[in-house]
Amino acid sequence: MKLGNFSQRCQQLLHPLFYSLLFTPSVLLVAPAAHATKIESWRFNIYQSQLEFSTDEGVQPQAQLVTNPTRLVIDLPGVTLGRSTIQETYNGPIRSMRIAQFDRGTTRLVIEVAPGYTLDPNRIKFRGITPQQWIVTLPKPIPIPGMSTSVVSPAVNPAVAPIVLQPKAIAPPLVQPRAIATPPAVPPIPNGRVVVVIDPGHGGPDPGAVGIGGLQEKGIVLDIGAKVAAILQQRGVYAMLTRADDRDLDLEPRVQMAEQVNATVFVSIHANSISLDRPEVSGLETYYFQSGSELAQTIHQAILQTTGVMDRGVRTARFYVLRKTSMPSVLVEVGFVTGQDDAARLSNPSYRTQMADAIARGILQYLQRTAKR
Ligand SMILES: [Zn+2]
Repeated sequence: MKLGNFSQRCQQLLHPLFYSLLFTPSVLLVAPAAHATKIESWRFNIYQSQLEFSTDEGVQPQAQLVTNPTRLVIDLPGVTLGRSTIQETYNGPIRSMRIAQFDRGTTRLVIEVAPGYTLDPNRIKFRGITPQQWIVTLPKPIPIPGMSTSVVSPAVNPAVAPIVLQPKAIAPPLVQPRAIATPPAVPPIPNGRVVVVIDPGHGGPDPGAVGIGGLQEKGIVLDIGAKVAAILQQRGVYAMLTRADDRDLDLEPRVQMAEQVNATVFVSIHANSISLDRPEVSGLETYYFQSGSELAQTIHQAILQTTGVMDRGVRTARFYVLRKTSMPSVLVEVGFVTGQDDAARLSNPSYRTQMADAIARGILQYLQRTAKR
């Protein structure tokens, strides 16, 4: 049996079928009008305490933390919602999320925490992926000392002046505030800025390969990918994840993200599989298409040097994410979830950290080498 076919399948399996699931009930799509800026989508992930929203033109959010009850108020000036107020309620310390047309020219998003809880304003992070796409990460709500977490009377909790937050891109910034007034067609990433896009495969209803003991590819590659991105950020390289949680994501938006931010390199992370009757098959494969050859070799060698994984070679393949990306791109199959050796190691978080370290080191070596040319 030709094993290469398996990785091809895990890349391309069923994605069009899942396409309709991309738009979960909390994601709204509104047809853009001719002049006003429209909100295109928003999604609050309660598990990650993360709000994402996008607009059809650039926007500079304004935010404040208001007390009694504690709520984060995010205004999008110049943005039209185009429909009536929507509210979602949750169990737990984050109680609700609502979106409404605040006034004629402002869409307002409000995330409210449960009575007796508050948010550390210093730990609320706004990140402009592009002027049109923002991610807001909330810290875990903390109980207000000496206050019941179930009932709060306004009399004992007098209103406090709102804390004004300054949403801006986290360092190194992708969004230049000056560029927001006239959003260019391409996101304003200065020439020479290195942007690495890390793409953990599969997600949501698509588990990817399923191996020994039900070990799922989607979870392994998300963990490794997130660690790679974190290591790169620590080293001062801007890294973006195509997915940061367990969500369905088609191949096309993964590529689009890399193209939109004009990524320097694109690294897709997958795990391999073969029949469960072949537990003796383990090993690392790294794939590229055209310009990714050197990047593939560098990452592959970096992994072999420190993880002790079997070497199954660097190969070419016409995977969608490799063919459709215009920058050097590679797809790393970190090991076989059906392999006795690989499955045991990939189940181990410290091995996954080791793998992520090696991938990040390979990317950094490649970037350093190509920067000198
Ligand atoms: Zn895969």
